[in-house]
Amino acid sequence: CGIVGYIGSQNSQEILLEGLKKLEYRGYDSAGIAVFTSQGLEISKAKGRIANLEAQLNDAPLRGSAGIGHTRWATHGRPSDVNSHPHTDDTQKFSVVHNGIIENYIALKEELIAAGHVFVSETDTEVISHLIADLYDGDIVVAVQKAVKRLTGAFALGVLTEFEPDKLVAVRLASPLIIGVGEGENFIGSDIPAILEYTRDVYILQDGEMAILTREGVELRTLEGNYISRELFHVDWDI
Ligand code: GLU
Repeated sequence: CGIVGYIGSQNSQEILLEGLKKLEYRGYDSAGIAVFTSQGLEISKAKGRIANLEAQLNDAPLRGSAGIGHTRWATHGRPSDVNSHPHTDDTQKFSVVHNGIIENYIALKEELIAAGHVFVSETDTEVISHLIADLYDGDIVVAVQKAVKRLTGAFALGVLTEFEPDKLVAVRLASPLIIGVGEGENFIGSDIPAILEYTRDVYILQDGEMAILTREGVELRTLEGNYISRELFHVDWDI
């Protein structure tokens, strides 16, 4: 239901939690985050209130300066810890948050299972992480583009891979997503309030567009790979 993401030099856990709290008004049944820690890509997620996730993170913090977060409103698979986002693949090298619905997930799931992938959740979302892992050949941007071509439905995505820890990839297809541009840090969010505490300079993604965020900057492209140049939108209102 709600997506937030961060890549910069601050500890990401607090920024992701704050962003998720700003997205609470949209409604949700579970919440989770994935962060690049010194151990690799680590996920913490829980059914129920963000306070549950927060308590879990107090006991076992995820320290690292890049991560993605999600509040889930279940469409496929009941609300549960394992169905919460972020989702990953067999290798646990990829992590995905997803807002929306993948209509053709059953066919894709059957195909991926036949190719040896093992699924752990009941969600439509989990096919995305397995599909990206399956298509990955050294370039996460290309893998995401290829994966999205195979998906039908309405969605927004945030993607991280341990193979390219300095990148956060975001996609918008019929589900809102904005990019926040800071200094030495960049953000994604389902809406502007999620990140307004940190920056007022945003790009509004359009359908069929993706963003590649590093600490240094943001690149906007079409899903076909064409570069997009767009003016930054400066937010002059407060929440
Ligand atoms: N369809 C996905 C799920 O049920 C995402 C739902 C959402 O947008 O929160 O897990």
